[in-house]
Amino acid sequence: MVPDPLDAAAAALPLDRLGRPTGVLRLSLTARCNLACPYCCPDAIDPPGLLDLRERLALIEAAASLGFRCLRLTGGEPLLHRGLEDLVQAVQPLRRRGGPASLRTIALTTNGVLLTAARARALRQAGLDRMTISLDGADGASVGRMTGRSSEGEALLQRVQEALAHAREAGFDPRLGELKLNAVIDRHRNGDQVVPLAALARRLGVELRLIEFMDVGNRNGWTPERVLPAAAMVERIHGHWPLDPVGRAPNGTASRWRYRDRADGLHLAVVASITAPFCGDCNRLRVTADGQAYTCLFAERGTDLRPWLRPAPDPAGLVAALAGLWRQRHDRSSEERATHPGGPSRPHAEMAYLGG
Ligand code: SAM
Ligand code: SF4
Repeated sequence: MVPDPLDAAAAALPLDRLGRPTGVLRLSLTARCNLACPYCCPDAIDPPGLLDLRERLALIEAAASLGFRCLRLTGGEPLLHRGLEDLVQAVQPLRRRGGPASLRTIALTTNGVLLTAARARALRQAGLDRMTISLDGADGASVGRMTGRSSEGEALLQRVQEALAHAREAGFDPRLGELKLNAVIDRHRNGDQVVPLAALARRLGVELRLIEFMDVGNRNGWTPERVLPAAAMVERIHGHWPLDPVGRAPNGTASRWRYRDRADGLHLAVVASITAPFCGDCNRLRVTADGQAYTCLFAERGTDLRPWLRPAPDPAGLVAALAGLWRQRHDRSSEERATHPGGPSRPHAEMAYLGG
């Protein structure tokens, strides 16, 4: 039998020290944000030396050649970045290469506040496939509390609902998983919003992803008592609208459930990174807006990629550097935390810098 060149190309992709393949590149475009969610604590200014379009493109191309098939653009707030649409447009040729070294999905995580109808259309036309919009409450008081903008909660809630409508009108179809809602649940601040958020998402026909409050960064006041376990969230919603388990996709972060009463097949998802860690098949690499690569959300430090990007990108050097970094990777911080709950807490990078 003639060997399939695509199989050979896939076999050449790097695995980390725990045998995990590459998959998702989460690229932060800025550490700044127009909100100040207290569980995230974004920076007021960006670090010096942010990557430019050419450097980001070189990085994404190198990552795609190593099997990072999904690019997720994040921040801080990525809609603050004026070059967002240009970047989405510029990576389109990387889709057309075919084989395991091509980009398949380009996604965005945003708080939605700056998403006008025109911007949603421009992003879709540029080639964005998926959008996840964050909203942590279903009433103005909760949204105000969770965004650190207590007097603006009602207006922000309105804006985010408009953003969801703009995204849908621009062609992001929630039934195809192209539009989702993210909510972080902090037992003390918005633990009471689980069912109201599910009701809102059901009304909008959008999949809700409930995320356990994570101990990312050093300044969000995380304590284990503030984590509402995903199982408890599911139980509360199941009490109102019965759910059937679907499971977690390989390499996915979310466990999904199907609403029994919904003819449209609507799902609920929970991200249980504290109570049911999924390090075992984690395929994500994070790169900050200033070019630091992190192989784990809880890593103490990153690797500066700028030596391979400046003064001009060095594509071969960059591929070798990323492949080497991946082959050295052995992070499994969430699993370690779960097995040694009282273990020492090491300093780690802030969430808005890493991009979630
Ligand atoms: N500003 C955008 C947004 O809010 O969607 C993108 C950046 S934000 C850091 C990415 C995701 O991380 C958001 O869905 C946010 O809710 C989530 N996030 C931030 N801090 C978190 C924490 N401590 N625990 C769990 N999720 C968190
Ligand atoms: Fe900003 Fe997103 Fe962090 Fe909230 S979670 S402060 S919206 S970056």
